[in-house]
Amino acid sequence: MTQTYDYDVLFLGAGHGTFDGAGPLAASGKRVGVIESGLIGGTCPNRGCNAKITLDAPVTVQRAVERMQGVVSGKVGINWSELVAHKQTIIDPLPGNIAGKLTQSGADIIHGRGVLIDAHTISVDGRAYTGDKIVVATGLRPHRLDVPGDELAIDSSDFMNLRELPHRIAIMARATSVWSLPPSPTRPGRTSPS
Ligand SMILES: Cc1cc2nc3c(=O)[nH]c(=O)nc-3n(C[C@H](O)[C@H](O)[C@H](O)COP(=O)(O)OP(=O)(O)OC[C@H]3O[C@@H](n4cnc5c(N)ncnc54)[C@H](O)[C@@H]3O)c2cc1C
Repeated sequence: MTQTYDYDVLFLGAGHGTFDGAGPLAASGKRVGVIESGLIGGTCPNRGCNAKITLDAPVTVQRAVERMQGVVSGKVGINWSELVAHKQTIIDPLPGNIAGKLTQSGADIIHGRGVLIDAHTISVDGRAYTGDKIVVATGLRPHRLDVPGDELAIDSSDFMNLRELPHRIAIMARATSVWSLPPSPTRPGRTSPS
């Protein structure tokens, strides 16, 4: 007898590793479940790509104006705290939009922290969900450094929510997350990473 499962495909995590595939899969008629403990959409829309692009936009304008000096005149300043507030208005609706697309496609969203029990079972808050296939797409977390002074450091998510830009910033990393950070802090008067 064939084992029956709650879902054909059960995704753990609702980031990019999941939502681009889970929606079309559900729309094709597969029974799809998506388990997420945080914001639907994960890192990219909420604290990665989209947040960064929004913070970057005025810097692009600023640099264009600098390049065109002589043809245009005057300086463009960036109000960081307004920019961070603007970024939030752009990204706040994204989890709801992505969740809406998933559910409209027919996927179920299960909120809570999933624990992998076996090859076909994930437990969420004590309830077991089963899937013929399980996709683990739980992403990454910032790595805290085991060095004295680590408690003074912030991660890229904290950086994108700073109310004020510090005068000097030392950046430590080699991943997309740092090279992707908005260039605003490296504008004149700021100390940039080398
Ligand atoms: C600052 C920054 C800028 C970036 N810019 C770009 C860019 O411009 N272009 C680009 O291609 N990439 C960029 N990235 C990288 C991109 O965001 C990631 O590659 C992408 O989000 C990874 O998707 P994922 O689904 O693997 O993980 P995530 O998006 O992190 O999603 C994983 C999800 O799983 C959930 N989860 C984890 N454990 C559990 C559990 N036990 N139960 C339930 N849920 C769980 C988490 O809450 C999270 O929502 C950037 C990243 C950062 C930090």
